[in-house]
Amino acid sequence: MKPTIPQLLQQGITAHREGQLVEAERLYRSILEEQIKHPDANHNLGVLKTSVNKVESALPLFKIALESKPSVEQFWLSYIDALIRLSMFNEAEMEVEKYKSTGHNPNKIEPIEARLKPGKIDQRVIFAVEDFYKGIQKKSILEASRGWIFTDSFDRHFMECRNPGIAPVNEKLWDGEARTALENQKVSEQFDAAEIIDKLNQETSITKKYEYLKKIIYANDLNLVNDSFKGKNVGDLLQAQEETFDSENLNLVVIGGGVCGLFLANSIKFLFGARANVLVLDNRSRKLNTREPFEREWLTQLPTHYFESYSPENLRSVIGCFGVNGYIGIPINVLETLLMLSCKDQGVKFYFSRNLQFSDLNNDVDLIFDATGGRLVECSYSSSASAEIGVRVPARAIDLRYAGVNQLYNIPHLETDSLDFVLKPHGDLHYPFVRNMKIYTHMVKITGLPANLINPLVKSAEELNSSNVFYIWTGCLREEINEGLIFINLLGEEYEFLTLIIKNPIKLKTLTKNYPEITENLNKNVLDFITILINSDQDNRMKIERPFSYDPYVNLSADSGRLYGKQVFPVGDSLFCGNPKMGNGLGSHLVLIGELLQRMVEGSQTERNMDGPNY
Ligand SMILES: Cc1cc2nc3c(=O)[nH]c(=O)nc-3n(C[C@H](O)[C@H](O)[C@H](O)COP(=O)(O)OP(=O)(O)OC[C@H]3O[C@@H](n4cnc5c(N)ncnc54)[C@H](O)[C@@H]3O)c2cc1C
Repeated sequence: MKPTIPQLLQQGITAHREGQLVEAERLYRSILEEQIKHPDANHNLGVLKTSVNKVESALPLFKIALESKPSVEQFWLSYIDALIRLSMFNEAEMEVEKYKSTGHNPNKIEPIEARLKPGKIDQRVIFAVEDFYKGIQKKSILEASRGWIFTDSFDRHFMECRNPGIAPVNEKLWDGEARTALENQKVSEQFDAAEIIDKLNQETSITKKYEYLKKIIYANDLNLVNDSFKGKNVGDLLQAQEETFDSENLNLVVIGGGVCGLFLANSIKFLFGARANVLVLDNRSRKLNTREPFEREWLTQLPTHYFESYSPENLRSVIGCFGVNGYIGIPINVLETLLMLSCKDQGVKFYFSRNLQFSDLNNDVDLIFDATGGRLVECSYSSSASAEIGVRVPARAIDLRYAGVNQLYNIPHLETDSLDFVLKPHGDLHYPFVRNMKIYTHMVKITGLPANLINPLVKSAEELNSSNVFYIWTGCLREEINEGLIFINLLGEEYEFLTLIIKNPIKLKTLTKNYPEITENLNKNVLDFITILINSDQDNRMKIERPFSYDPYVNLSADSGRLYGKQVFPVGDSLFCGNPKMGNGLGSHLVLIGELLQRMVEGSQTERNMDGPNY
């Protein structure tokens, strides 16, 4: 005779208690075949899965059990326990509140709640970070080398035209000459960070959403320019730390509030919640407690899934709605804006000052990250990797989906398995050379290319592009807000000339109008192309930026950084810089930060004293 459901359950529990997990699972599943929402079978199968470290599979089972029979205290406890094990702390906190409000025994939840604030988790997380950095050198070289291969493939002509000496990266130093004077700006209507994110989520029109974001950027919304201590008499770093840190939780400092620093700070706060205090420091500031606006209107190409595991839902839904084909697509300054709002919403603290005294970093600080884009001059790295080293990297096929015109016909390395580079030391960094030539080119960027002009311009450029001067990128924003981006490779003298006249982005039309001498200083094909651009730019939207150099470096001693004796871990451009044409800058940085976060979470979970299955 076929056993009844209560009999099957009893047999399952017996097998489970006796450690016959395969048999127990079979019995629980046979119940679920009959009654998919059976509370005990779901719950016990969840307990079984948890015991073999398959908490992800257990979670939905616990959820069904709880939804089917919320009166059972144990179902709440198991579900909340699984949420905590999966580091879903925000959700766990919400469930704890619900549990309390449903009149269950408050004493039972206390030990679980304590795990949401388990006291210091610092040492385990610090070990995890240190371990991660032990393996970072190889990863950095692999990621950074994609940009070197790209340059040696497409832009070799421009590399050969350069002086092979090592130039210092002094262009990276901010000179304090911000392009907009903060004092002269009107500040937008005030909402707090959470309200702005809500407002963005509620707006259904993509165009209006995007316009609203730009409006708050250019109106210098106080959520973006003020730090967390403005008007609170917090005048130095010592006080900012006192206001941020405590002795119970993990205390982290992120130096540099650009894209990578903000992404890291926001993700840590999301993953660790109240267990981590995060203080972001930035020196791009002319007035204490205030930072300069985010102004880099540079399109990005970042997959949306980078943000899935590490961002709160309200941020994910805004970030994911502007792009197409799984990409975010928004410019860096829009991304920084959203990350900053989310950081503030989650309780990350900011301190902005032109004169940051890093010697004041106190002993409460557990971890320091350098996210300054390689500008933390006070930080030093050990000389263990100071020698010149040769590296062989896979010259894997470059993803050409977004490559610019003509370059498709001129790809020397697609047939090659590997490529040899020599990394030469200079200061704390190493610079790549190939065939004794430094990887080093100059270019200038034109932004604001209207989407409808991209295809016709690609065609026009092809006729002028036999030596890969122009690179047109089509953007990956939704049609109604999309735009293109152009890089123009420059010879040394063109670069020097344009650097003298363009300090900040200017309208392309202004360039030709105000500087007629360009005709004598730029090559004919560049001039011809600029003329084509200007003739098609009816709405006067295109801007030309200050020229820059792709002067790649890699930090080979990333595990040895010291700032006034304290260990510092570099992220983003402090680790290596990518080639903006190749997309191996920000894209690669966020992947590595994602791996780092994963290790931190795993580290925080080790040695946890978990109770055995309850059934
Ligand atoms: C010229 C150029 C063009 C690029 N174009 C593109 C593009 O079109 N698309 C794209 O996706 N990527 C582009 N990139 C790459 C991209 O900008 C970087 O990968 C990205 O900005 C790196 O982020 P980060 O947070 O590491 O550094 P950054 O974004 O540079 O942020 C560093 C932050 O640290 C702060 N800081 C600096 N020094 C200190 C200090 N001593 N103390 C405290 N704070 C400090 C700065 O104020 C800043 O806020 C480009 C890069 C360059 C150089």
